[in-house]
Amino acid sequence: MIKVDDLNIYFGSKTSAIHAVKSASFDVAEGESYGLVGESGSGKSTVLRAIVGLVPDWTGKIEVDGNTIVGKRSKSQRKMMQMVFQDPYGSLHPRRTVNDTLKEPLAIHGFDNQEQRIIDALDEVGLGAEFRFRYPHQVSGGQRQRVAIARALILEPKIILLDEPTSALDVSVQAEILNLLGRIQKSRGLTYIMVSHDLAVVGHLCSRIAVMNRGVIIEEITDDQLRSGEVGQAYTKQLWTASKGYDRTALEKFEDFK
Ligand code: ADP
Ligand code: MG
Repeated sequence: MIKVDDLNIYFGSKTSAIHAVKSASFDVAEGESYGLVGESGSGKSTVLRAIVGLVPDWTGKIEVDGNTIVGKRSKSQRKMMQMVFQDPYGSLHPRRTVNDTLKEPLAIHGFDNQEQRIIDALDEVGLGAEFRFRYPHQVSGGQRQRVAIARALILEPKIILLDEPTSALDVSVQAEILNLLGRIQKSRGLTYIMVSHDLAVVGHLCSRIAVMNRGVIIEEITDDQLRSGEVGQAYTKQLWTASKGYDRTALEKFEDFK
């Protein structure tokens, strides 16, 4: 579904250029959850932003659903790939109701039955129709992130790119959101790329994980390696050890109370 080959991304002018992503290559199958993990500043968000077309200066090859990306994304390419960001405060307009937020993409892409689609999308993320006329400050952090997920789903995309979708949330709410994302992925057959600085968080959803350090993908690990801790690079081992502070078993047992 996604193929990235020898991707290099630069910021700034020639004299003060930052080489933020260095020769990154990976591919993601349809229906797979692929993880991208690494410390802050390692280039994870930049990779996602390049895939959705938000960075101007890159080289290499990006292929989505069999089509090589050249120049600007078409309207249908934009529709099939949606992004969910870390900070639901920043990504939702403070003076727009949930209804307005969900209606906007439907209007842009000319969908019919808008009201029903909004109600269905809210239901899918575990929010009742009564949330429609609330403002972002009138819902909790976890509920805001559910609205952001509903907004991503409402255009019926094939791919969702998740940039630290739970990092701003309390641990118990993180687990609820991760479980919700897992359920939605299964029921819709979606393809995910999920970015996190926390190996345990990506390990919860992803079967293959690329480890990034200073703009370079240093290795790709499987969920078996994640369980056993038998990883190739010392840097990965360090992330793995840090992630043990987070109890995976507890996370898996966590129930999602609607
Ligand atoms: P991560 O998501 O892993 O924390 P980022 O992809 O945000 O890392 O950033 C990778 C590197 O690129 C960092 O050094 C960051 O400062 C730089 N960078 C990211 N966005 C920009 C930008 N718009 N302009 C200049 N430098 C940027
Ligand atoms: Mg980031």
